[in-house]
This record gives sequence, structure tokens and C-alpha cells, in this order.
Amino acid sequence: MPELPEVETIRRQLESKIVGKKINDIKVHYAKLLNLPEKKFIEQVVGSKIIALKRRAKILIWDLEGDKNLVFHLKMAGQVIWAGKNPNPARYTYVIFTLSDSNKVFFNDKRKFGWVKLLNNKELEKLLLSYGPEPLDKNFTWQKLKEILSKKKRIRIKPLLMDQTLLAGVGNIYAQEACFCAGISPERKADNIVDKEIEKLYDCLKKVLLDSIKHHGTSADAYVDALGNKGSFEGRLKVYGRQGEKCYRCAGIVKKIKLGGRGTYFCSKCQK
Ligand SMILES: [Zn+2]
Repeated sequence: MPELPEVETIRRQLESKIVGKKINDIKVHYAKLLNLPEKKFIEQVVGSKIIALKRRAKILIWDLEGDKNLVFHLKMAGQVIWAGKNPNPARYTYVIFTLSDSNKVFFNDKRKFGWVKLLNNKELEKLLLSYGPEPLDKNFTWQKLKEILSKKKRIRIKPLLMDQTLLAGVGNIYAQEACFCAGISPERKADNIVDKEIEKLYDCLKKVLLDSIKHHGTSADAYVDALGNKGSFEGRLKVYGRQGEKCYRCAGIVKKIKLGGRGTYFCSKCQK
């Protein structure tokens, strides 16, 4: 599932290509992923100018002229692709936006779990209130992370980091990469992680997210960036997907366990 770095990569790439353009036409091939009836959705969006591109948590937001926002959630396998002027839609291209410069943007989704919603500012604000703080926000300090941990004392650290209501944008891959970086077992309960470790985890969270953005994200599943290319962070993952392989830090072997129903990789020798 695309997480913060993948959605942020898409946002940055699309920004220079579509901000300032108008949406001239929309074709919908699977209306169930919209929040409005297809005809109404098209009527309300066509003709609108794209003012800005934003991201919050794993959500991509096209801020449109007036009190309108196009909000995309990629869920498991969604893709938002700037397709240029002569694109061939895929079998699973479900929404095609044609912009005022004749370039097209596709919303693809093999799994059909993603969605595209038209929301006014108030509706958007309400949706975004359900998310915890942004880990890359300047106001997010290690003390804020400590506060989050102290609210959920009995929860194990990895599922805690993935809880979107506590912390925004971190999912299965980056939660375990951050735990490895910090030398903390994903199974540790929040209340026995000491301040020094929380500081380390905080630095590690930022580091793995920023490194991944720099490498355009991880293409472990269906994720491709806004230009249709795979991200190159997969080769830089330290534990995710490395079951049975040698740990990069010590002589241990990377293990795979199930934690909260999700496959979780870690080195039990150097992650305590
Ligand atoms: Zn190790």
C-alpha cells in the first residue's frame, strides 16, 4: 500500500505539471469509486482550475478553484499517473482527467479499493481531523511522539506507529524500517520504551521517510510514481521482505512474524 513517501512523490511530480491547468473533461469507467453519482461528479468538477496540490497522511488533494477539493486515496493498489497527450489507458484505468493543455491524468486501480471524492473545504477538514500529526511536520517533535506512546501504553510499537489516528502516513513498510533503524523490536509495548529510544525512533522515522521520498518510494506492490516509474527505495530496505537474509547491522538473520495480522520483519539480535 502506498504510504507517505509514495503519495508525497506523486504530489511533487504532478504539482509542476497540473497546477494552474483546468480540468476540461472527465471519463469515468468505474463510478463506484466516486463519492457522488457520476454525472453530478463530472458536472461539478469539469471547468475547475487546479490551484494547488497537497498531501495529508496517505491522501492526495487537488485543491480546486472555489470551495472544491478532489481527494484521492490509493488504498492497496491505486495509481495517479500523468499520462501526457497520447496515452493508452490500462484495463484498470477507471477515471481519465483531460486538462486544458490536453494532457491526461489517469486514476488506475487493479484492486478497486481506492477512491476519488469531491469534497468542499468543510468536508475535507472533517476528514483530515481523523488523522494524527504529520511525522515530517516542523511541529512534530520527539516529545509529541512520546505523548502518543504514553496514550497507548499497552500497544506494541509497530501497530501503534501504523495507527493513522495517532500518526499520519506511516504504514507497514516504514513502521518496520523505523523500528530496525532505532534498534527497537516491533513487538515492544509502548510503555517500556524509554526516552532515549523514543528520540532515536523519532529521528529514524523522519530519516526513513525522507530517504524514501528521495528515491521516489518503494514499489513492493503495484505502486508506481506519477510518471509511471517504479520507486527505487525497495533496494534500500533494511528488513522489509528480507526474511532469512543476513542482518545489515549484526550477525543476525532477519525473521518474519505476524503482528496485528501483518507480516513483520525484524532482527531479534539487534532489535531489542
Ligand atoms: Zn541485526
